[in-house]
Amino acid sequence: MLKGKTALISGSTSGIGLATAHVLAKQGINIVLHGLMSPADGDKLATEMAEQYDISTLFDNTDLRDPTAIGALIDRATAQFGSIDILVNNAGIQHTEAVDTFPTQKWDDIIAINLSSAFHLTQQCLPSMQAKKWGRIINIASVHGLVASVHKAAYCAAKHGLIGFTKVVALENAECGITANAICPGWVDTPLINQQIENVASEKNLPIEQARYQLITAKQPLPHMLEAEQIGEFILFLCSDAARSITGASLPIDGAWTAQ
Ligand code: NAD
Repeated sequence: MLKGKTALISGSTSGIGLATAHVLAKQGINIVLHGLMSPADGDKLATEMAEQYDISTLFDNTDLRDPTAIGALIDRATAQFGSIDILVNNAGIQHTEAVDTFPTQKWDDIIAINLSSAFHLTQQCLPSMQAKKWGRIINIASVHGLVASVHKAAYCAAKHGLIGFTKVVALENAECGITANAICPGWVDTPLINQQIENVASEKNLPIEQARYQLITAKQPLPHMLEAEQIGEFILFLCSDAARSITGASLPIDGAWTAQ
């Protein structure tokens, strides 16, 4: 059912996005691979993926802080594939610091990448989904879209905002065959969290492995990180026909973090 459709996954050169690209590509879905990577490396990754799964791919390294460039990304993708059927708004960054010293530039970047890019990409992909009466929009939020932690003001604001945005897109498109959902992961083993592990290690003078364990178990009852592929598999389920009535939901995959 999904073979031959096209998915755009923002931030798919690393972590959750890259794992999701592999999971979807395995089903015969064409992939727009995107992220901050050199054209040479990105094109190589996209070509390898195309050969591995016998699909079509395109690589784009648009900086999502620039809304005009986002328009050009969609133009490139639609020129090659006709339209985007599955949009995974996944790109994200992190910066941890107390509100009173939180740098304004970091705030602006996190809001632009983790929240506003989802608006811009969704706005540009919706018309063709509406015309086809089929679409899947999956926004990678976080447990920090549901609850807060200290030192994550911009991240929590962006992820809470992303969940609100998801609900509106779901409501406005409920009669169009388009679903919009937010996924709220706990700790996932990707480069995004390395800095936080290093911070715990240096603050508490711990070896990296112990710092990693402390960081995970401080809030997440499941005492290990999720693998990025698990998020990809869940995204694949949300794309399936079986999930056609799941829309407007914020779905935790968080090892019971938000059960407390
Ligand atoms: P990652 O660092 O491995 O990947 C981030 C991706 O975003 C990369 O492809 C990078 O190139 C891209 N990106 C960063 N800045 C960009 C910019 N200015 N323009 C365009 N692309 C940019 O991180 P990840 O952990 O895979 O994160 C993916 C998503 O999952 C993020 O939205 C993150 O908030 C969310 N998330 C991660 C975790 C976790 O524990 N890792 C938990 C919950 C939610």
